[in-house]
Amino acid sequence: MSHFSEYKDLIQVGDLALVWISRDNIKPVTITAGETFNTRYGSFPHDDMIGKPYGSQIAVRTKGSNRFGFIHVLQPTPELWTISLPHRTQIVYTPDSSYIMQRLQCSPHSRVIEAGTGSGSFSHAFARSAGHLFSYEFHEVRYEQAKKEFEEHGLFRDGNVTITHRDVCHDGFTIKNTDKTTFFDGKSAEEAQQPACIGADVIFLDLPAPWDAIPNLDCVISQNSKTSMCCFSPCIEQVDKTLEALEKHGWTEVEMVEIQGRQYESRRQMVRHLDDALQRLRDVRERKQVGVERRKRMFNKIISDQEEPYEERPETPKTQFNPFGKGSRVKEGDSNYSWKEVSKVESEIKSHTSYLTFASKIVHKARNEELVQSIIEEHKD
Ligand code: SAM
Repeated sequence: MSHFSEYKDLIQVGDLALVWISRDNIKPVTITAGETFNTRYGSFPHDDMIGKPYGSQIAVRTKGSNRFGFIHVLQPTPELWTISLPHRTQIVYTPDSSYIMQRLQCSPHSRVIEAGTGSGSFSHAFARSAGHLFSYEFHEVRYEQAKKEFEEHGLFRDGNVTITHRDVCHDGFTIKNTDKTTFFDGKSAEEAQQPACIGADVIFLDLPAPWDAIPNLDCVISQNSKTSMCCFSPCIEQVDKTLEALEKHGWTEVEMVEIQGRQYESRRQMVRHLDDALQRLRDVRERKQVGVERRKRMFNKIISDQEEPYEERPETPKTQFNPFGKGSRVKEGDSNYSWKEVSKVESEIKSHTSYLTFASKIVHKARNEELVQSIIEEHKD
């Protein structure tokens, strides 16, 4: 059993572990006694991993050389799963999902609707944070695969994840006992007569046509609290159609955000002064002059047939004259030099450029007089 929702110390047989080979190469592995994990850096027996703490480095000697190949065995988290999962669709990456969850104020009290499930990348993040996740997928094979994965990853264990095979644009979000869904798994025949009570207050739509799903949300969103929604769309034309549907169906606080993930590398750069450069040029000229004169003297000695024409080269310390440390290795931040903080953009960051349309809806806007009075009473001293 894997542990996406709790931490454990030691690697055990049957665990799903994520093996870190390099920054962009992480592989899911089910730990099995007697099996071997093969990479181009070497073959790693699972037996070497079993019983070691998660996070351990496992090393093997590379065949025919004295070098070692190594891997790190990590415990699965939604973030690591996102960068290692088998892609069945485009996926939502952590820079986007974390921003979206924060904007939607997703918490253990939230009841979340997600459509479609796709490769289940975002589902794992929702499942960890939300009170209940209702995920919908209309592609049967993807539904079955996601269901199997959720099962293997222990996502159903706490009873807070439901996945339903459904076209939410045509058939809406209500879950009935005739549906192919995990909602009724393990429920008695009597319980299974009751449709799922959804009451969602967080909605995330990652669909090609969210505007067709928006009209179907009214009967499944929370009736007594604010519902927040985000639609994830790669094109601006989709955003336009979504905005139209949101306005038509009474969604407010509409805001569109464009995500462009960038990573900045921060480091120190040596401060170089003009005076230092001039000093360096003078030094080069001086050395050149000394060399020219030495050669001239040697030439004159040769043509006047003197016995010892060669002169010793004067000793000049190589780096002493270079104010920029050229020719010697200067460690970043060396206190003998001045430094300034600089940053540059790292091109390699996994985030899918997208438009995020946020909106919210309050179904019952009327003042609940009884509730207001009870709060006033409570705060009277
Ligand atoms: N957010 C997902 C993730 O992070 O892995 C990726 C979602 S993927 C881009 C979109 C998914 O929506 C596809 O798997 C597709 O089959 C599903 N889909 C499209 N239209 C749908 C509909 N009307 N009802 C349910 N699912 C739908």
